[in-house]
Amino acid sequence: MLHDPVLKEHLASCVSGSVLFDEPLDRYTSMGVGGPADALVFPRNREELLKLISFLRKENVPFLVFGKGTNLIVRDGGYRGVVVALQELNQLSWGARGEAEIIVRAEAGVPLAEIIQLSIKESLTGMEFCAGIPGSVGGAIRMNAGAFGGEIKDVVTEIVVLNERLELVTVSRKDLHFEYRRLDISDNAVIVSAEFALSPGKGELISAKISEIKSLRKRKHPLNLRNAGSIFRNPLNIPAGRLIEETGLKGTRRGDAMVSELHGNFIVNLGHARTADVIGLMEEIKCRVRDSRNVQLEAEVHIVGEDG
Ligand SMILES: Cc1cc2nc3c(=O)[nH]c(=O)nc-3n(C[C@H](O)[C@H](O)[C@H](O)COP(=O)(O)OP(=O)(O)OC[C@H]3O[C@@H](n4cnc5c(N)ncnc54)[C@H](O)[C@@H]3O)c2cc1C
Repeated sequence: MLHDPVLKEHLASCVSGSVLFDEPLDRYTSMGVGGPADALVFPRNREELLKLISFLRKENVPFLVFGKGTNLIVRDGGYRGVVVALQELNQLSWGARGEAEIIVRAEAGVPLAEIIQLSIKESLTGMEFCAGIPGSVGGAIRMNAGAFGGEIKDVVTEIVVLNERLELVTVSRKDLHFEYRRLDISDNAVIVSAEFALSPGKGELISAKISEIKSLRKRKHPLNLRNAGSIFRNPLNIPAGRLIEETGLKGTRRGDAMVSELHGNFIVNLGHARTADVIGLMEEIKCRVRDSRNVQLEAEVHIVGEDG
């Protein structure tokens, strides 16, 4: 798609950060799979992001926003278009609003782990449930990330979005429509930053909660192998992991992709898995669960790109 040298040159001139052509995405996704993107671009600030997205829209070049790639499966043929990586939009600040509220402002590329560290350092309570979720602020909002009874929707107060009309708009919480693992937002919109309302808390309690969550994750999740978190959304009445386990699928392999022995809703990469293996395994799980339990599983991970 991006063969024209003039187009490539223009693209590169939009940002001061890296522009990598034909860059394999398996290096960037937590699952460690995925073919090359025509281009992987790293804007360094919101002005560069605006310039880049305006250019891509004007030239009709498809683009994919990329946070930390922990909920993304890219097919083996890669992505025809530009992957816009937001990791360098990483400004984080905080301040008191009244006596009871601390407002944390984070650009989209800030890792959730950084807000967890800040919560420990500054004794802020409210986002402990995010401990161990390896995504970025933008990805967490897009996915309404959640765990241990909390969800991003409970703590976010507003976001800044680069919308379809190439305007940077602030949208307050009451106008954001969150669902289970999803924010209802246009596919072309880019979340640029977010504000979270936390509260001053007791340092020891916050640290203890975070340690407890992290050790629970260590026990329950296959963190020693590459994976993309929960593969399927939980159906209403029963966790997907339990259904998969009860269907006897733990340990099932396709190539180097395997249903984790530890947690049925994780597929792990044993070393050289291809996306075709991962997707094949997902199809097999869906068929087996549908046939044996009459439940239709739906993917939680986002699958993008072209077949190999
Ligand atoms: C070990 C492990 C444990 C996990 N545990 C949990 C958990 O407990 N709970 C949970 O909810 N998730 C969990 N996840 C999944 C994942 O970490 C979350 O969904 C996370 O919020 C995704 O963030 P990301 O930056 O990696 O997004 P990406 O994977 O980069 O992107 C996910 C989707 O969001 C879009 N996107 C990303 N950034 C933006 C942006 N700025 N603007 C618009 N769209 C954007 C992408 O285009 C893509 O469609 C886990 C994953 C792993 C690997």
